[in-house]
Amino acid sequence: MKIPDIIIAVDGYSSTGKSSLAKKIARKFDFLYLDSGALYRGVTLFAQEEMLISRLGTVSPALQEALGRLELHFDAEGRLCMGARCIEQQIRSMEVSAQVSPVAAVPYVRAWVDEKLHEFGRRGRIVMDGRDIGTAVFPNAELKIFMTASEQVRAQRRYDELVAKGETPLLEEVVKNLRERDYIDSHRETAPLRQAADAFVLDNSDMTFEEELAWVQGLIQGKFGIQ
Ligand code: C5P
Repeated sequence: MKIPDIIIAVDGYSSTGKSSLAKKIARKFDFLYLDSGALYRGVTLFAQEEMLISRLGTVSPALQEALGRLELHFDAEGRLCMGARCIEQQIRSMEVSAQVSPVAAVPYVRAWVDEKLHEFGRRGRIVMDGRDIGTAVFPNAELKIFMTASEQVRAQRRYDELVAKGETPLLEEVVKNLRERDYIDSHRETAPLRQAADAFVLDNSDMTFEEELAWVQGLIQGKFGIQ
């Protein structure tokens, strides 16, 4: 199945499986996958290492200028790097997860990340996952998917992911983090998490990954008239 050089936006709540689905779409249709959340996580790790965020999540105004020295890019395997250092594992930790939403709520941080996302978007044939891709970053994306799932399913998924990486989280902490992030992400002033009016909703609480894929494939076939 050959699909045109479009932009596909995959937005939704935390731990709904956006990146797994977006990666699979990219492989299947030969698209570039871009994880916008990784960039927010990279900025958060930078702020933490530079002591520009307090324990309670207050971001220092000095972060704005410091961003001028931050270099983030994805390597050939799609892992996030800060300069020569691969930071993929660190950005997925609970420490970063706990502070990423306050950092992502800062307007100049969003502008910094958006500039990078637009650079990638210029080439087309891209699938990007995040919170505001279909509403703010690429409001003209040709296909928008908005993902959701029950809190219990999402928390268990995130918990299993952390355990598989060797972390020892408490399930209550994972639930608390998901709630906090979704709340902050949905209530911030700049580009809040919202379902775009023209997005197709995918609730995967009771779906297997194969069923999700079949759903997406059907959606693409229907939308672009492909057999
Ligand atoms: O997708 P992921 O869970 O890795 O994103 C981490 C955080 O980055 C989100 O909770 C949100 O605060 C922020 N984010 C955002 N806009 C995006 C992608 C992520 O605000 N497009």
